[in-house]
Amino acid sequence: MVSLVQPQPIIYVLEPFGGSARLHNPMLPHVFHDDAAVTRGDGVFEAILLLGGEPTNLDRHAARFASSAARLGLPAPYLGQWREVTAAAAQAWHAQHGEKHPAARCTWTYTRGRESTGVPSAWVTVGAEPREHARARAEGARALTGPRGYQVDTGDKAAPWLTTGAKTLNYAANMAALRHAKQNGFDDVIFVDTETGRVLEATTSTVIVVKKGRRLRTPRPGQDILSGTSQQALFEYAGQRGYKCKVKDLYVDDLLSAESVWLVSSVRRGVRVTAVNEVELPAPKNAAEIAALIDAALAD
Ligand code: PLP
Repeated sequence: MVSLVQPQPIIYVLEPFGGSARLHNPMLPHVFHDDAAVTRGDGVFEAILLLGGEPTNLDRHAARFASSAARLGLPAPYLGQWREVTAAAAQAWHAQHGEKHPAARCTWTYTRGRESTGVPSAWVTVGAEPREHARARAEGARALTGPRGYQVDTGDKAAPWLTTGAKTLNYAANMAALRHAKQNGFDDVIFVDTETGRVLEATTSTVIVVKKGRRLRTPRPGQDILSGTSQQALFEYAGQRGYKCKVKDLYVDDLLSAESVWLVSSVRRGVRVTAVNEVELPAPKNAAEIAALIDAALAD
């Protein structure tokens, strides 16, 4: 019989200034009532795919983690410590659950810490990949397009304190968009800039458009679009294999006229968009090839 119970995650709590890490019992809480993660959503994170007990795309995750922390004015994380703890947690996971769960999710969380101490909080978890990911990869995602709900000024009026290019813990609005999509018979929302009609990103993934002639396109990451580690890995890998990869402004019409449209992110990997609003996007002949390309790029 298939067990529906997911195994307990492995959790390490890190001393944030490069010191020790301790294994934490996942049945017990470890975040204080006055932690900025809880009270303000003030912190950064990374979600990293583990395959066969090894982290993937780690250099890009580490670089973005450091840049997210810098954008929020958090002390620079000791990346060597995060990497060491990740290796230990990944190997422990693999030894215990590798056979049933060769793909797992590792999360790095780094918060501004307790109001009462001002010391950042830091922890690493490794747990099973959410079940719905495999279904999404197999069945694809029906996407609504819509405004993000706020406009990020990327021009010379840009607010210097904005954290939109950082991977912050503040995902409540994205989760609300996702719930809205589900309540309306869709699986995700692709955000579109209301002023220009530019495609931005989905709630938890980067948009990739595949055009005829082995051409891959993605909107320019930057202040209003999170720079995706999966997209970067895909473009590097595909570029070395004869695909022409470009960062370019995209509009909803580009989604509709594409050979295929994909949402890519580290742990869920590649999910083909099967509908945009009411328009069905039938699978192209090379759908399996593109899915395999994304998988291979992320496992590289
Ligand atoms: N954009 C958003 C808003 C995301 O939340 C994510 C991933 O969580 C991505 C893009 C894709 O990033 P990555 O490929 O590094 O997982």
